[in-house]
Amino acid sequence: MRKLAAGNWKMNGTAASLSEVAALLAAHPAPACDMLLCPPATLIARMADLAKGSALHVGGQDCHAKASGAHTGDLSAAMLADAGASHVILGHSERRTDHRETDAQVLAKAEAAQVAGLVAIICIGETEAERDAGRTLDVIGTQLAGSVPQGSRAETLVVAYEPVWAIGTGRTPTIAEIAEVHAFLLARLTARIGAEAAGVQLLYGGSVKPSNAAEIFAVPHVDGALVGGASLKAADFGAIVAALAAA
Ligand code: PEP
Repeated sequence: MRKLAAGNWKMNGTAASLSEVAALLAAHPAPACDMLLCPPATLIARMADLAKGSALHVGGQDCHAKASGAHTGDLSAAMLADAGASHVILGHSERRTDHRETDAQVLAKAEAAQVAGLVAIICIGETEAERDAGRTLDVIGTQLAGSVPQGSRAETLVVAYEPVWAIGTGRTPTIAEIAEVHAFLLARLTARIGAEAAGVQLLYGGSVKPSNAAEIFAVPHVDGALVGGASLKAADFGAIVAALAAA
């Protein structure tokens, strides 16, 4: 399967930041993996224009579960697609915390995204307290069962394992811990969507940077990364892309 290096710009970036995208495309015109950047919604259309004809895909960071209506400030999946997005991140831990998003809401959003033709990138992961209590597999198994649409196909779904305590902290699980979770994810996903699971890109996310990317990409069933901070600079994200392409 093609691997995926995905970047989440979160609430960072203005038009000036598009120079990083131009630099990324100049340095990596045809990488041997998929590249995706998810900027703030204000930049999706401009980034998509810049990426036209290149190896870079553009995505959103959230969408509403409904197709249209009285939802001030929200965006539908079809609007993201119309702006040039091919993917959308859903259920990121920052949204599960800041906006109290539940598995059921993430599921509804993922269904809406897939109907609109977007690839749903569903994020799951345990908190530090849950890991310390030995509940990691229990927690991510529950999140997976609650938020992944049953009819998902390999082309409409990406799953990102992002331990909450590793996001933006510089800390990562051990290689053995990542391997354990990714093997578990593949087994649970197979139970939920059958043979399609084998083609679903399973990403690791949480403090991935150029210095640790290669060892993480060597873990079985790690098909790429969801990258926050290190996706903002072309040099760092490009180095991660290069590590994935070489894995
Ligand atoms: C993220 O927010 O999805 C993430 C992985 O962030 P960082 O790479 O900065 O830890």
